[in-house]
Amino acid sequence: MTTPTLLEVQGLVKHFPLKKDVFGRGGGVVRAVDGVSFEVLKGETLGIVGESGCGKSTTARLLMQLLQADQGELIFEGAGVNTRALSLKAFRRQVQMVFQDSYASLNPRLTMEDSIAFAPQVHGLSRELSLARAHDLLARVGLDPKRFAERYPHELSGGQRQRVNIARALALQPRLVILDEAVSALDKSVEAQVLNLLMDLKQAMGLTYVFISHDLNVVRYMCDRVMVMYLGQVVEMGPSEAIFENPRHPYTQALLRSVPSMDPDHRTQTPPLAGDPPNPINPPSGCRFHPRCAQARPECALQVPLLRGDAAAHPVACLLYPASHPT
Ligand code: SF4
Repeated sequence: MTTPTLLEVQGLVKHFPLKKDVFGRGGGVVRAVDGVSFEVLKGETLGIVGESGCGKSTTARLLMQLLQADQGELIFEGAGVNTRALSLKAFRRQVQMVFQDSYASLNPRLTMEDSIAFAPQVHGLSRELSLARAHDLLARVGLDPKRFAERYPHELSGGQRQRVNIARALALQPRLVILDEAVSALDKSVEAQVLNLLMDLKQAMGLTYVFISHDLNVVRYMCDRVMVMYLGQVVEMGPSEAIFENPRHPYTQALLRSVPSMDPDHRTQTPPLAGDPPNPINPPSGCRFHPRCAQARPECALQVPLLRGDAAAHPVACLLYPASHPT
């Protein structure tokens, strides 16, 4: 039986224009997200990985509708977002986000209970019921409401604040939660606790996650499927096990080789990624990875590889694979 789709993303594009200098030089656009399509299945955790500048956080903001896409469509449970079938407001209730910076995400003048109760109140729930929901959520994220409800952000540790941010994201009873580097700023021991909390909440509340992280070990631990992005495009997608055990795209292979090994016999002697770091202003022609790819062929600078096929079948956008050849 196939798992139903919760969110379908079709052809998302977001370019940021650059200002010209006083001499009229410069300009151009940053191609942050450049034709990205994928599906998020109900109940899964979909990981998005790639180096900084690959477009993963811009993709998250486009999913949340915090940024307006230049092109593309979001379809949530079969209904187009921001259409008569599904208003932006109704969609925003269903999709929430947790950011990396736990302190900046919280209003310093609001107590924890008021921070969590704020959104339900805005959406029409009475203050009494909103506070009851806030207390319930505080308990669910492991913070005793009797001790924490009336505290302010500066009275909490980073891990406790991130627990409050998770509770706040759950206050509107969303279906999809986007976690954008949500545990990256935490100490390793606290990170493990918050990751386990996220897994428990997902199970208990029937949630679906999009999990964005630069930490591939954490992605492997958390995610059912993984999408690899390079310079604003998806280059490989598939079940987590397939991506980590049998990476197909040379970029994914290099990315995985760059994960530090704890085993001294398996330390890499040469840097896995050669060449300049990615520049999304003037992406290379053909395959965008070709200037850094150890397996590049002459045609790689000329032809744009295509990502074709069902995500379960582990598609890859690389000319080494016949399915990627443009027809
Ligand atoms: Fe490397 Fe060519 Fe594949 Fe791009 S298309 S990843 S340059 S082999």
